[in-house]
This record gives sequence, structure tokens and C-alpha cells, in this order.
Amino acid sequence: MRQGIRRRDFLKTLVAAGIIGSLGGVAKLLPYRRVVRPPGALVEEKFLSQCTRCGQCIQTCVTGTLVPCSLGEGLLIWGTPRVDPLRAPCEAVAGRCEISRPCVENCPTNALVYVEPEKVKMGSVKWIKENCIAYRGGECLVCYEVCPIDGAITPRRGIPVFHSGKCIGCGRCVYACPPEPKALYLVPDGERRIETTR
Ligand code: SF4
Ligand code: SF4
Ligand code: SF4
Repeated sequence: MRQGIRRRDFLKTLVAAGIIGSLGGVAKLLPYRRVVRPPGALVEEKFLSQCTRCGQCIQTCVTGTLVPCSLGEGLLIWGTPRVDPLRAPCEAVAGRCEISRPCVENCPTNALVYVEPEKVKMGSVKWIKENCIAYRGGECLVCYEVCPIDGAITPRRGIPVFHSGKCIGCGRCVYACPPEPKALYLVPDGERRIETTR
């Protein structure tokens, strides 16, 4: 099933790359959404000029968190990779991709580069307290249990408190948050992007 989804994603990125290439500068004039990029992404302008939308990072991501941006998210970013924590979290820190990252290694243009785990920051989480089981008086704190970063979430009287400065934007808490709709979502706020390919 996941293989099928990935093949569809790949075909979409090829179509997107072709259309954006033929439209040239028009895409830059249209609004687009800020999205959470894979770890080690160049600063957005450079990333967009170097990412060919080949889909290699999406195809090889070990968790399946990467998806191509949709046309609805903006013509300019259509087909480029973003982290989708509803599918899976990113394991660049305290996970399978600490030392080697398939998304980076398979990027043929160096739009993604390896950065040390302590320098990874893809974004941060936002809390919608009305949806939170703990805030509504129940027992939960699943987010706190799965967070790999000390101090990113601290429980206070059974309710999670989120610290965006410490959060690396891995999405583990979003993925694990049990209620529907979820009490957490991922944003690129505070992201650390890379200036140059080393
Ligand atoms: S670091 Fe690993 S989990 Fe994160 S986007 Fe890259 S391949 Fe996927
Ligand atoms: S996992 Fe979700 S519902 Fe549970 S305490 Fe954390 S934010 Fe609230
Ligand atoms: S708060 Fe959530 S997104 Fe931030 S580091 Fe912890 S698990 Fe990852």
C-alpha cells in the first residue's frame, strides 16, 4: 500500500517539475504556504532553486514522513518535499537517521545537506488546548512520553507545556497525539535552514 502511495507521489512530482519548469517566473509571483522541510534543507530560496522535484528523498525516507507539496499549497512549492507528521515522524534525531539520512544521501542536487543532530530544527509544534485530552481533564501526556528532546515538553499538573525553543519539529508528538482532531500540529516556526552546500 505504502509502495503504491509512493509511486503516485513520484509521478505527481514529475508532472509538477515539468509544469513549473515551463511556467518559469510566473510561479514566483503567486502565494505559497510555508511548510516544514526535511532536516538539512537549504534556506528556502536556494532550496527552491536547487530542488528539481525528483522525489528521491520522498521515495527513500525511512519513515515515510515526506510527501510532495500539493498544488493547493502553492505552485512554486508544488512537488517539493515536506514533512507530514500525520503519516510518520522524522527520525533525524534520536532515531534511525541520526548518522546517515537517506533523504540527504539520495538528494542529487544538495538541496538537502547533512547537519549534526544537535543542529537539526525543522520547526516546532502548536498546541490546540481545546482538543487536548489532558487539558480537558483526562489522563494522557502521550506527547511527553514520545518526545526525544529534554525540556521540549514539560508536564504541569498533568497538562503538557510546550517549549518551542527546545522543540526540533520532529513530529513524534503530533503523530502520537490520540484525539481526533489532534491537539498538536507542526509549523516551520523557528526552523534552522542551511545557507550553503558544504
Ligand atoms: S531524516 Fe530520515 S525520517 Fe527524516 S526525512 Fe530524512 S529519511 Fe525521512
Ligand atoms: S498527546 Fe495530545 S491529547 Fe495527549 S496530552 Fe499531549 S497534546 Fe494533549
Ligand atoms: S515537542 Fe514534539 S515535535 Fe518537538 S521535539 Fe518533542 S516530539 Fe518532536
